Amino acid sequence: MADGKNFIHEIIDEEIKEGGRCYGQKVHTRFPPEPNGYLHIGHAKALEIDFGTAELYGGMCNLRMDDTNPTKEDEEYVDAIKEDIKWLGHDWEDRFYYASDYFDKMYEYAVELIKKGLAYVCELTPEQMKEMRGDTKTPATSPYRDRPIEESLDLFERMKNGEFEDGKMTLRAKIDLASGNFNMRDPVIYRINRLPHHRQGTKWVIYPMYDFAHPLEDAIEGITHSLCSLEFESHRPLYDWVVNNTSVEVKPRQIEFARLGITHTVLSKRKLRNLIESGYVDGWDDPRMPTLCGLRRRGYTPEAIREFHTRNGVAKINSVVDFAFLEYCLREDLNKKAKRAMAVLHPVKLIIDNYPEDKTESFTVENNPENPEDGTREVTFSRELWIDAEDFMEEPAKKYFRLYPGNEVRLKSAYIIKCTGCDKDDNGNVTAVHCTFDEESRGGNPADGRKIKATIHWVNAADCLDAEIRLYDRLFTTEQPDLADCNYLDFINPDSLTVIKDAKVEASLGLAQPSDRFQFLRVGYFCCDSKDSTEDHLVFNRAVSLKDSYRPE
Ligand code: ATP
Ligand code: MG
Repeated sequence: MADGKNFIHEIIDEEIKEGGRCYGQKVHTRFPPEPNGYLHIGHAKALEIDFGTAELYGGMCNLRMDDTNPTKEDEEYVDAIKEDIKWLGHDWEDRFYYASDYFDKMYEYAVELIKKGLAYVCELTPEQMKEMRGDTKTPATSPYRDRPIEESLDLFERMKNGEFEDGKMTLRAKIDLASGNFNMRDPVIYRINRLPHHRQGTKWVIYPMYDFAHPLEDAIEGITHSLCSLEFESHRPLYDWVVNNTSVEVKPRQIEFARLGITHTVLSKRKLRNLIESGYVDGWDDPRMPTLCGLRRRGYTPEAIREFHTRNGVAKINSVVDFAFLEYCLREDLNKKAKRAMAVLHPVKLIIDNYPEDKTESFTVENNPENPEDGTREVTFSRELWIDAEDFMEEPAKKYFRLYPGNEVRLKSAYIIKCTGCDKDDNGNVTAVHCTFDEESRGGNPADGRKIKATIHWVNAADCLDAEIRLYDRLFTTEQPDLADCNYLDFINPDSLTVIKDAKVEASLGLAQPSDRFQFLRVGYFCCDSKDSTEDHLVFNRAVSLKDSYRPE
């Protein structure tokens, strides 16, 4: 929308008007990740909506670990989640919470429901409950529904005290066994589970279910708008039921938005974990992963990711966005920010036969023509250079304008050279290309103004550095690897990583720091690997290629 407002903002605009539900109140949202994995590009959308909405209205956004589930949750994830959110540029200030800190209060609210006759202890096993849940024409049943309040109170307390084994009993909200919305057919709100909790240890053996816990967490924190993805739409009546039937002071409102889907990847944490555990990728921060730490290591900027979400907008219909659009946003950002450098991925020697053997000169080149503030650097030049093997053909193909015997090209920022031939080994492989240079063309322009069709990049053999280059490609060969009727593992791209061990890069890249990003002229955008690159062993990851046919509408 032109004014940057989406349908959520339109709802809020109405609610903060005089007489509206939130008149005179600060808009208060929250981002509630479950600390059972790393954040991914889909979470970044939710972050943009949660923090962005609060910011737009001068309100607040809490960061809350939704850790009501005792399994698989871990401090490692909590720290990583915080780091990723900060990296994106969102700030929860001092409003960091754990849902598990509300277990005592939640227990009290459950007791309140029992006392009001709105919850009961049920002894059906999960299988029996499934059998008795009815169908669209038949209501569900439970023989425990009319159990006296006193009995439920007693049993619930004993559930809490650990008197019953896992799965033996549940606490169910007493709502409507005939509801067309199955979430309202007396949903389970507490279950027994003896798995230890990452923060509460073994204090609790009963745990609240998401649909009961979440609205209470929101209400306890004074959230005005609980923004979540579309799959919770049919849970909203239960959300409202919980806030309306307990004595919570704040009655938050849930509003759903469409999840982000993106081509050529998967976004479920379970599937991402499986890719790691099965060895398809190296970890959560593998640069092929759609995780924020993976994208960061790959070379993505927070600005590119946020711009991607802003341009996609917020809708109520799920859609799948082309991965190429994310790459487009990165390219646009890096074009402005990344310093230029020269790197030769497939080196072949270039010998300038008429250049003095003991001479070295240097050229002053711009670091980024898009941003003069980035300044200039010196690039050295001498008789022997490295150029890319692809920039020479002994017998040129049609429309090939680069080096071939008799042809002239420009060495970027240096001189015009003319190819005179090449050396070959016994197998016919080109081992060196020979040329002469035009002394009058210093800086790259011929004195007589003759037309030179191609410009190629190079590095000085005398002082260039060796580097490892990691070329990353799509993780999956198909657009939607996680469609319901297929197995995403069948579509893993076997060529998602190509490692070049012996690339040559210009000397200035010896100063590259982990996470620095560059445009390697004519090659693409690269990022100095934050984990593996050292002064003695430079490693650069391809963030994105230079060009793509993709253009946003
Ligand atoms: P998964 O299904 O992969 O485990 P999740 O949705 O359970 O993901 P949470 O940690 O619960 O992961 O997510 C935190 C918040 O991020 C939730 O509000 C959720 O709606 C939102 N979210 C997760 N994935 C997406 C997505 N692809 N697009 C938009 N929002 C998302
Ligand atoms: Mg979840």
